[in-house]
Amino acid sequence: MIIVTSANGIVGIQAAVAILRDGGTALDAVEAATRLVEANPDDHTVGYGGYPNLLGEVELDASIMDGRTLHAGAVGALKGYKHPISVARKVMEELPHVLLTAEGAARFAAEMGFEQENLLTEAAAEVYRQGLSGALPADKRDWLNDGIAGNLARLARITADPEHAAGTVNFIAQDSAGNIACAVSTSGWAWKYPGRLGDSPIIGAGNYADNRYGACACTGWGELALRCSTAHSVVLYQRLGFGLEQACRQAMRDLAAATDAPEHAIMNLVAINRDGRPIGMTTVPGRTFVWMTPEMTTPVEEPRLVVDLTAKE
Ligand code: ASP
Repeated sequence: MIIVTSANGIVGIQAAVAILRDGGTALDAVEAATRLVEANPDDHTVGYGGYPNLLGEVELDASIMDGRTLHAGAVGALKGYKHPISVARKVMEELPHVLLTAEGAARFAAEMGFEQENLLTEAAAEVYRQGLSGALPADKRDWLNDGIAGNLARLARITADPEHAAGTVNFIAQDSAGNIACAVSTSGWAWKYPGRLGDSPIIGAGNYADNRYGACACTGWGELALRCSTAHSVVLYQRLGFGLEQACRQAMRDLAAATDAPEHAIMNLVAINRDGRPIGMTTVPGRTFVWMTPEMTTPVEEPRLVVDLTAKE
């Protein structure tokens, strides 16, 4: 039994371990832990308090996958609901679908009895205001004064701010029955174009779990993981016989072909193999990940292994 998470998941890991310790399922553990991160107003990359899109609206993405059945549920560009991970789980359990987006996702959340609320905190709104005007050159500030509606495509290129863009939470759990589940939740790229989905709600890109081989979840530049199906690649490389570390390194190396500037590519992943061994990997030195088993009283925070995408194969 184990739970593995990105560094910002530390606020949820004890709750997940308690569920595993009591004989609960990996699915329940990853959902409960993710909800705690989604409710944390100080995490501006997930759930309540998340940074908004270019129009100042918080749009959330999340996905959950059951490695026992390969069933999955996901929501994208969901507005007004604090716990997209629970809505995603309902998609998996109540619908013959995997992914709902925008109005359809909100409609379904309401139908399932989730409470609608305002997710934009004053702190996030203030950073948004400063982020947009601060990122624009002086001769372009009137884009904001004139109303930004007609300028979104140009703004999306200029205001993309790596300092505020990054962040998402990943949880992978393996329970006492050996079942693996994986959950990912995010407010996505800060100041994103409205309706933009990253890798987090896309099964295979930011999230994948298969009891037979392992699981992987990503944070970082979602467009890259989307282009390379990174989470699924990690699982597939294990299926093809690669060890856990080698599978992760290969999936990361695959990203180099999908960018003209590999030195700037930001990708992080956490993964386990089918025996529950954890690993964290990144393109950015200094990043950590966290894991814990039910026998432990406190989680371990470890540096992620670093992959250099500029290195020749
Ligand atoms: N992967 C997320 C996205 O692209 C953001 C992040 O993890 O930093 O939406």
